[in-house]
Amino acid sequence: MRIAKSVQALTPYVPGEQPKSRNVVKLNTNENPYPPSPKVAQVLAGYDLDRLRRYPDPVFMELRRLIAGIWGTVPERIFVGNGSDEVLTVAARAFVDDDEAIGSCDPSYSLYKTLAAIRNVPFVPSPLGPGFSWRAPVVRGAARDVALFLLTNPNAPTSIRYGRDVVADFAKGFPGVVIVDEAYADFADADCTSLATAPDNRNVVVMRTLSKSFSLAGLRLGYCIGPEDLIEAMYKVKDSYNVDAVAQDVACAALSDLDWMRANVAKVVKTRAETAAELRRRGWDVPESQSNFLFAKPAHRPAAEIFEALRARGIFVRYFPGPETGDRLRITIGTDTDMKTLLTALEELDK
Ligand code: PMP
Repeated sequence: MRIAKSVQALTPYVPGEQPKSRNVVKLNTNENPYPPSPKVAQVLAGYDLDRLRRYPDPVFMELRRLIAGIWGTVPERIFVGNGSDEVLTVAARAFVDDDEAIGSCDPSYSLYKTLAAIRNVPFVPSPLGPGFSWRAPVVRGAARDVALFLLTNPNAPTSIRYGRDVVADFAKGFPGVVIVDEAYADFADADCTSLATAPDNRNVVVMRTLSKSFSLAGLRLGYCIGPEDLIEAMYKVKDSYNVDAVAQDVACAALSDLDWMRANVAKVVKTRAETAAELRRRGWDVPESQSNFLFAKPAHRPAAEIFEALRARGIFVRYFPGPETGDRLRITIGTDTDMKTLLTALEELDK
């Protein structure tokens, strides 16, 4: 078999572990510990099998109308994907030429680098400031122009949010497309959607997912909002039926029950504050999180050691080796009971 050279050289993205046993405390992939809206259960329980016999709406108009209504914009400004990961893949196809590059802050969502490798273009990481603070990205001066900048906000794995003004300023001076990846924005105090819906917006695309705040990681549904010409370009290069019928229907149900999502988010935010306070009390360094996870530096023992020891006890958190991230653990906020189990285990380990 002949495999393309760029693929032979490619390091694939490694998703967080999905242990088979349900008998674990799973705080490693930023899933929501609470169930999705009962409206989702209703759709699935009475699902009309005829909907599966036929192809789904290739441009998911009902779903786009609903999303557009939520954000006070028009369906022409909405694109939907099989998870926001697919939205990113389509964006890399639509907005980047073969002789250009993809950029992001560093550290950020580790898929971005792989995405550039799959697209066979260079990846240009731009270092953050002290304490993972905002530093205006370097997008010129590299061998190639950065055509697409992927800006996670709140950032992952750092949990820190950048202000809307700094994002707007950066986008204004950037000639390419900026995707503001707002996977975690429902857990934050503010977001950048108004930049995407603004009538004079030229290059800002804001991306959302149903995987976190809507408790639907298993569904695979993400979307983005942007200027009409950019969104139209994404439709040109997507797969024919990239969002299946069940995902379209379930997403409509979930997005019709924003109160349910907000109530779950409020619980997570409360647990987040309590967990962060307790870890800080024990001497850990925990930046102010605006997401559904903490990026925490243990007080006494190396993060890698604690990660392994927790894993041996059936408590899964995420560890990213490397100079910027290797002294911390990324801990998803679970239920109060989950966090109590974690804190009890850490009390024994972090001595
Ligand atoms: N963006 C960020 C920053 C993420 O952490 C994730 C989850 N791994 C995603 C996008 C992808 O989310 P999904 O494909 O489930 O919508």
